[in-house]
Amino acid sequence: MAVIKTEDLTYVYGDGTPFRKVAVDHVNLEIEKGDFAGVIGHTGSGKSTLIQHFNGLLKPTSGSVYIDGERLWDDKARLRSIRFKVGLVFQYPEYQLFEETVYKDIAFGPKNMGLDEEEIDRRIKETAKLVGLSDSVMQKSPFELSGGQKRRVAIAGVMAMEPEVLILDEPASGLDPKGREQILGMIKEYHKAKGNTVLLVSHSMEDIARNVNKILVMNDSKLFCYDDTAKVFHRSAELEKMGLAVPQVTRVFSRLKAMGFDMGEDVYTVKFG
Ligand code: ADP
Repeated sequence: MAVIKTEDLTYVYGDGTPFRKVAVDHVNLEIEKGDFAGVIGHTGSGKSTLIQHFNGLLKPTSGSVYIDGERLWDDKARLRSIRFKVGLVFQYPEYQLFEETVYKDIAFGPKNMGLDEEEIDRRIKETAKLVGLSDSVMQKSPFELSGGQKRRVAIAGVMAMEPEVLILDEPASGLDPKGREQILGMIKEYHKAKGNTVLLVSHSMEDIARNVNKILVMNDSKLFCYDDTAKVFHRSAELEKMGLAVPQVTRVFSRLKAMGFDMGEDVYTVKFG
C-alpha cells in the first residue's frame, strides 16, 4: 500500500482575489513505503505547496491526501497523530533551534509525542550516532556549533521522531561542498538504516542523481512524472525544456547506453563532480 497517495489534489492561493494562483493542479500520485525520492521542478512549480499537504500543513482546496490509507482532514482529531507519521524539515531548519543543549533540542520532538524518558534517550543516542554528533557535543549549546553541525542537530530532531516519511526541503542549501556532502550522506544513511520513505526537495540535479532512486517532477503546478531515477533522466529533452539541466554524467551514460554498451542501472548513482 502507498504510504502517501493523492487524488486530484488541487490547491489554490488567494481564491476569489485578483492574485488567484493554482499552485497544485489535480495531482494524482502514489509514493510507496521505502521510496527514496527526489522532488524537482522549476521555482514556483508547486513543490513546496505539494509537500506541505503531506503532513496536513495545508488543506486541499479540492481532492484528497491519504497517509497509510487514511484520508487527511476527515477527522480533525486524528490529524495530530497522522502528522507524527510525516516529518517535515524546512529550509534552514537551524533557525528553529532554541533549547539550551543539543540533547534537549533533539529531544523536543519525541517529548511532544509523549514518549517516556528511556525511549527518548534511546532515540537521541541512535540519531546522534547516525548524523555524526559526538557525545561531547550533546551537552553543548546548539549556538556554539558550526553551521553544518547546527543543521545536523535540527534534522536529527525530526529523525528522532522516527516518522514513516521524512521530507526535507533543500537540506543542503547554503552549505559548502563538504557540508553538502555530509548532510546528504547522513540522509542516505538514515534511509539505509531505517528503510523509511524519504523525500528530498532539491534544485541540484547532481544531488538528486547521486542519491535517490525515484524522482518526482513538478511542472507548472502539475505532476509531470513520478518514476525511477534512470527513467526520468532518460527524458532529458523534456526536462531541459522545463529548465531542469540534466547532469552531464547522465547524458554521457545515456549516450553510451544508446550506443549499445551495457551500463547497468546503478550508473545513475555513480559519484561525480
Ligand atoms: P516551488 O516550491 O516549486 O518553488 P511553490 O509551491 O512555493 O513552488 O509555489 C507555487 C506557486 O504558488 C508559485 O506561483 C508561487 O508564487 C505561489 N505561492 C506560493 N506560496 C504562496 C502564498 N503564500 N501566497 C500566494 N501565492 C503563493
